[in-house]
Amino acid sequence: AKRAGGARFVRFAAEMRERSARRTDIETDLRLALQADQLFVVYQPVVALRPDGGTDHSAGVEALVRWRHPVRGIVPPFEFIGVAEECGLIGPLGDFVLERACRDFVRWQHELGDLAPRLLAVNLSRAQLGQPNWAGTVARILAETGMAAERLQLEVTESLAAQDTDVQQRLHELKALGITLALDDFGTGYSSLASLHLLPVDTVKIDRSFVSQSETSHHHRVLIEATVKVAQSLGMSTVAEGIETDAQATVVRTLQCDKGQGYLYARPLPSDDLAAWLRQSSG
Ligand code: C2E
Ligand code: CA
Ligand code: CA
Ligand code: CA
Repeated sequence: AKRAGGARFVRFAAEMRERSARRTDIETDLRLALQADQLFVVYQPVVALRPDGGTDHSAGVEALVRWRHPVRGIVPPFEFIGVAEECGLIGPLGDFVLERACRDFVRWQHELGDLAPRLLAVNLSRAQLGQPNWAGTVARILAETGMAAERLQLEVTESLAAQDTDVQQRLHELKALGITLALDDFGTGYSSLASLHLLPVDTVKIDRSFVSQSETSHHHRVLIEATVKVAQSLGMSTVAEGIETDAQATVVRTLQCDKGQGYLYARPLPSDDLAAWLRQSSG
């Protein structure tokens, strides 16, 4: 038994070494990626759910970062956002995403007119908020790209937004620019419905884990319904994330979610494909 334990430990140590080596690789490569233009942004449509069951129409998009690595191919964000946060690259990475997304959004307004998305959602991480005068950076990017502040929504997670007064102060500074805030992945963190009113958010995004179980689990339907009711009473709108089936869309529409997002409507798309999707889904 002792020997088996030893072997397990050796294997464990090797795994840890491998993991930290991979992390160092990612860190080195990510620094290059920012300079070498390997990062790009894809956009997932967010649709307005018609309560009467009529055709849902496009309401906005969420910007999601991608990395085209010369050897590894497309690297998904969960493999590098955490690393970027730890090694101090989330600042430049986040600014890159925000600026690119605002530029694309303004271009759609010119090229697509009435078909252009109404709202641009961009994810925000804790480390970005910690940067000195980040609200000033956002104001500069809005001015430089010609993006209207009221069209921009920054998405923050519960763990980020909860209780911390310094964070709340910074969120209020952002709101003072005229942008709106969404609470991302709602239901997965520690804050509860009871503390929603403490956060300066305009929109609540109900996590995919609730939506995906909404067909089979009464419990999850009840939680979605309660979230929508509390959000409504606080004047916040709701988005159901990760809708994959018609049945899920029907459930969240029946529970009066305002908007939906998920593979049922569209996967995250490169800018040009998004324009094509908007044209096609309107016609
Ligand atoms: P998120 O903000 O919750 O974004 C939604 C994620 O769910 C995206 O994964 C999206 O592709 C995926 N998704 C959307 N609809 C469906 C569906 O119907 N089914 C399933 N299975 N998945 C769906 P993605 O793009 O891999 O991003 C993962 C996470 O990485 C994001 O979760 C967000 O937390 C983070 N992230 C992505 N881009 C950025 C960024 O630019 N900045 C920061 N700070 N974080 C980012
Ligand atoms: Ca998000
Ligand atoms: Ca989310
Ligand atoms: Ca998520």
